[in-house]
Amino acid sequence: MHTSSQCFFKWLAAVATSTLLACAPLRQNIPPGVVPAGEPWSPEKQLIGRQAVLETLKAHPMTYEARYVLRAQSVLDRIFSAINSTEQWHVFVVENSEWNAFCAPGNNMVIYTGLLNSMSDNDELAAVLGHELSHDLARHGDDESLNLLTALTAELAKSAAERTYQKTGDKDRAMNEAMGITLIGNGLFIAPYSQSQELEADRIGLFLMADAGFNPEKAPNVWMRKARKNSSSALDSLLGTHPPSAERAAALLQLLPLAKPRFLNYSKKGKTITLTAHSREIARDNRALDLTRASDLLVTQGIQYFEAAQYDSARQLYERALQADPHNAYALNGLGTVAMASGNPSRSQQYFERMLKLAPYSAAAHYNLACTHSVLGQNTQALKEIQQAIAINPQLKSKALDDGDLVGIRMDPRFDQALAKQRGGATFVINSLE
Ligand SMILES: [Zn+2]
Repeated sequence: MHTSSQCFFKWLAAVATSTLLACAPLRQNIPPGVVPAGEPWSPEKQLIGRQAVLETLKAHPMTYEARYVLRAQSVLDRIFSAINSTEQWHVFVVENSEWNAFCAPGNNMVIYTGLLNSMSDNDELAAVLGHELSHDLARHGDDESLNLLTALTAELAKSAAERTYQKTGDKDRAMNEAMGITLIGNGLFIAPYSQSQELEADRIGLFLMADAGFNPEKAPNVWMRKARKNSSSALDSLLGTHPPSAERAAALLQLLPLAKPRFLNYSKKGKTITLTAHSREIARDNRALDLTRASDLLVTQGIQYFEAAQYDSARQLYERALQADPHNAYALNGLGTVAMASGNPSRSQQYFERMLKLAPYSAAAHYNLACTHSVLGQNTQALKEIQQAIAINPQLKSKALDDGDLVGIRMDPRFDQALAKQRGGATFVINSLE
């Protein structure tokens, strides 16, 4: 593998003391096809991660705009479900026009609205989010042998804090200053991952997106575009941290024959679906909300009205979305939720049944159908639907445990059995600091 980390070493050697260059053994590369689950972060690193998030939120506030939050959510629903872990993540969608997203230690992910705006479809978005998540799952920021910049900035931070403390005698101020320098140097903002780490994150991300049912063929293009966009990053050229885009694309293209079958076999409900026969259906049924579609935009506006309890306005928008695209399962989902909220579970059930016909692998369709069955006292059907919903999206398990609409079946002994069978999958919350 091409490594120009040599120049990174030389650059550091010129700046840092020789102790920083002690030859720690390099961790073995994660083999192609493996998506690591991620080891727990140390409490110190978790603290740094949380601090990085708070610093970011000070500069770039969270956005609650449905078109951003829902799009991120619908893509992450599938990505997190594909990780072999039951960890809880915190996702923050922030207002910033830059093409960026990053993970911070302690299961934090920050996504800029600029990234959501520049991804032309959800496969591309999944490629970027999968890559960022992969840095974290591979614990790249935790790898002291590679992250020499961390050691360097720790030194800088220490001496700055000592200076401040000597001058002012203010311990808190000295600590804050040290923390600020450490954060910047820690790569949480400038991401000084090595070239081999970047290539490894590309590799893991490719399989992660495929496992989540996103087309891995879209990944090489995204990185070529990114490279064209900021070809003149001074930091990149100084540190030599980013592999040349042609090399990245070539490495990904080489792995496509391995990743593609996992996308094709993207399995929902535990059974294998061969995409050759059903590719169109899958693309439609399992697609995530897409900002670039007029029909989906109407749905996201409808959801905003729904959340403000303005059901009539919400219903009108969902109906317009359905007119714009009669196959939009999300519009039917919206109409079903409006009917449910207006106290009409039978009508609601009709919408969800139509939705399920269009989107037989949609976890939301099964889940919402379970709710209507439960409210209508149809326990056996409700249990069957809830089991299917959770098989498709394990994150719905915790929701099912305290959803008022499912009170009817939670007392049923078959409910625990239905839930016990399900596998894990990471969970996440968006824009919540708790
Ligand atoms: Zn990266």
